[in-house]
Amino acid sequence: MNEPVLRIKDLQVRYDTSRGPVSAVNHVSFDLHKGEILGLVGESGSGKTTLGMALVGLIQKPGRVAGGEVWLDGRDLAKLSPREYKAVRLADIALMPQGAMNSLNPVTRIREQILDGIRDHGILMSKPEADTHVAHLLERVGLRSEVADMHAHELSGGMKQRVAMAIAISLQPKVIIADEPTSALDVVVQKRVMETLKDVQEELGASIILIGHDMGLMAQTVDRLGVMYAGRLVELSPIQEALINPQHPYTRLLIESLPTTKGKKRLRGIPGLAPQLLNLPAGCAFHPRCPHTFEPCTVHNPPLTQVGARRWAACHLLEETA
Ligand code: SF4
Repeated sequence: MNEPVLRIKDLQVRYDTSRGPVSAVNHVSFDLHKGEILGLVGESGSGKTTLGMALVGLIQKPGRVAGGEVWLDGRDLAKLSPREYKAVRLADIALMPQGAMNSLNPVTRIREQILDGIRDHGILMSKPEADTHVAHLLERVGLRSEVADMHAHELSGGMKQRVAMAIAISLQPKVIIADEPTSALDVVVQKRVMETLKDVQEELGASIILIGHDMGLMAQTVDRLGVMYAGRLVELSPIQEALINPQHPYTRLLIESLPTTKGKKRLRGIPGLAPQLLNLPAGCAFHPRCPHTFEPCTVHNPPLTQVGARRWAACHLLEETA
């Protein structure tokens, strides 16, 4: 693997609520390499979207980054002021937000929405230059240049998602956080949008953190998979190895819940519900749902431990192997 382009160390995001602090992202560390697509999966509330928002400096109160480091280009983004972060966002690290359907401005033409972020970074263009640039961006994401004159309500879901992609790549960032970029799209459109995202990523040489809960999409798209549970990263592994031989019981159950085309298989959901972050179980937060719980699980939280070449998992079952 080449040098990391993004290095996240011990990142913590807390929400200060009237019932006490909630750790939505709990001591998460990993590297993202140049040209890599890293998938982040987990049930709702596992902290993956909060992590993505923290990486682009968009955690809103009562949330806050409570600790840790986010290194990009020799700078720790976690230490930047909101004004400094504004200069980095879009130019170096960009977000394709969850629900692109609703993230576009309904009363502004697409051209202006694309140019907005560019102008915000002090890049001035003449009208013909701006028109050419917008047309080029739209073409890059598979849209006709006429889309520039349209409003969001005139576009299909897939087209809106492509516009969100055009905005995200408008300043050629090194890292793109794509938060469920294909949710609410049918599978055919989903596949095409993901193909475009991969093409654009290769053209830019960018790295992507793909957030989602669709393991099938992850299997087709990402190089490595990170699995989050209750705010923690519980497994990190190359995708093929994660699918063939998952190390963490939660990852195994996520994979077993996938339908297969090879013969009939009884689909099994994961028993129980994701825990409330305000009231996490003692020890391993997965222990009330885990089929392998044994004595230390209810007392000690297992650390993320290296369990193979480029593989990490947080489970007491693996400690001896490690
Ligand atoms: Fe299951 Fe224990 Fe491993 Fe947690 S630490 S995943 S409860 S076996």
